[in-house]
Amino acid sequence: MARITAHSAVRVYVSELRTSVRGVSVTDEANGTQLSFEDPALSHPDDAPLRSITFVVVDLETTGGSSAHDRITEIGAVKVRGGELIGEFATLVDPQRGIPPHIVRLTGITEAMVYQAPTIEEVLPAFLEFAKDAVIVAHNAGFDTGFLRAAATAMGHPWPFRRVLCTVKLARRVLTKDEAPTVKLSALAYLFRVQTRPTHRALDDARATVEVMHRLFERVGNLGVESFRDLLDYLPGVPKETRDKRVLAEHLPPGPGIYMFRGPSDEVLYVGTAVDLRRRVRSYFTGSESRTRIKEMVALATRVDHVECAHRLEAGVRELRLLGAHAPPYNRRSKFPHLGWWICLTDEAFPRLKISRNASAVALGPFRSRAVAYDVADLIAESCGLRTCRTALKAGGSHTCEVGPDGRRLVGGCHGATATPLSAPQYSSRAEITAGLLTGRTDTPVRAALDRLMALSDAELFENAARLRDRLDQLVGQLERCQRLAALARISELVAAGPDGSGGWELAVIRHGRLASAGVAARGVPPMPVVAALAAAAETVIPDPGPLHGAPHEEVALIYRWLTTPGVRIVCATSGLSLPLHGGARWTQWREMVGSAHRTLRETAEHDSPGRRSSPAPVPVPVLSHRGGAAGPRTPASRGTSLDA
Ligand SMILES: [Zn+2]
Repeated sequence: MARITAHSAVRVYVSELRTSVRGVSVTDEANGTQLSFEDPALSHPDDAPLRSITFVVVDLETTGGSSAHDRITEIGAVKVRGGELIGEFATLVDPQRGIPPHIVRLTGITEAMVYQAPTIEEVLPAFLEFAKDAVIVAHNAGFDTGFLRAAATAMGHPWPFRRVLCTVKLARRVLTKDEAPTVKLSALAYLFRVQTRPTHRALDDARATVEVMHRLFERVGNLGVESFRDLLDYLPGVPKETRDKRVLAEHLPPGPGIYMFRGPSDEVLYVGTAVDLRRRVRSYFTGSESRTRIKEMVALATRVDHVECAHRLEAGVRELRLLGAHAPPYNRRSKFPHLGWWICLTDEAFPRLKISRNASAVALGPFRSRAVAYDVADLIAESCGLRTCRTALKAGGSHTCEVGPDGRRLVGGCHGATATPLSAPQYSSRAEITAGLLTGRTDTPVRAALDRLMALSDAELFENAARLRDRLDQLVGQLERCQRLAALARISELVAAGPDGSGGWELAVIRHGRLASAGVAARGVPPMPVVAALAAAAETVIPDPGPLHGAPHEEVALIYRWLTTPGVRIVCATSGLSLPLHGGARWTQWREMVGSAHRTLRETAEHDSPGRRSSPAPVPVPVLSHRGGAAGPRTPASRGTSLDA
């Protein structure tokens, strides 16, 4: 084969990055590849080697020493990884107040210099973007992070940096008093003979701090400090009581699983998952734990229990089940499984919709909010002509709610109202179409609602159109999710396998949407006998009649996500995993358009000057083409793949 002599593109190491903030100079590597850690709970970024961590070394000049009363006048920051420069950030900042003369003498930054500089409100978003996901480093970090945090708080930005490193603390720990009687930046710069002289200007000082940090890293490298966690462990600052609790992690294995912190009365305080149980739990007793609530939890803990798991899916499922069982006070409530509300089609002579905690055979849900469930149920009843009156009707009776003299439904009247009474057989087609909508056999009611939406928009009734559009969005969104999860929950047994990353397979036996058994076939072990053993030992699942057959929707969703992960394949299944032809998935594209219309409106609203009430903007009404528009339903990995050992 002829050798192609074309050079691979010479990578521009540091290139200008466009920035919309005047006066800010930013250089950043054009295609910087950040290590990504998808799940911090499972693969903790603190365990990464120091050379793979992105550090943003920052230095500020200010009008004084108090982050509460003084303001920033200059920001300088240098981004480095693996000892290499990735980018720099430098700007003067208009403090919007005078600068005391002694500060001017120290820094050389005068009021004239900052007069036309951008304000911190203009600069901070660009800085947060520049430093995103990095470890913030500063010489006396409390000072710099104090000012930045105060500015972020004042602007309503959450403080995004969990990991901060102070080079003063590090220097005090690394260097002896003899070697460095003072750890001022100028003294350290002199000690290490660094190239950039600190000048009390932000960028120069940040550059000097980078060199100092690297020289300190060289020293700690000889002491076995390899990861950021090692570094934090090495630094002082963890109370003795916390450090002493490390023994609680001693008995834990180094494999994947879930852990439970227990309190003095044996109550479960906190549940988490880890790929390396011992390492993860030990980290709670070190300086790398910065969350106040978690520190409080650790102080209470008297014991750590664990369950070893075959792989992440098992750990995730067990975590969900434990969160549901214990509602641990130190876990975020948003992670707890919730029961939710179902829209159920009743089984009676003249069926209606009712909202219930439990799903009936034909149902849609679960909805987190009961009010939303009512709202969506009302739209379904309206679109399907289902009755909303409360009278119990016998099979031989008739539905007598009538429309007004103009042929229209009375305000607040029954959605099933007709000009002449309906017998049960006449009414039954309405229940059938509702069942068809919920199970994905038809989407005629959705199309009818879309026609009403178009009519409202044509009549320039934009507020009504927007409201209907959002209810319709809720409806098709829930149809899509519910039908997708129901497709999985319908299968009585499905065995799937995903690569374990080292040549083996992670295996899961799934019954009616629940994880019934989990295991691994390590590299070189024939997987099929393992599959057979797992299936034989799997839990028996007794399904109930609802769409998810009684499986908790969070668990089905977790399994579905795992099944659709690249590399995961279905080994065998009692039936195929397929989505209904006329289900909610057909409307994905329409929903994306609704979402983008919402974003546009929000942005327009944000750009409007405050105080000025804008007139209601026209509501974009996305139209689904008659060909269906949305791509056909996608199904996860094909069935019946054979596995290589
Ligand atoms: Zn009625």
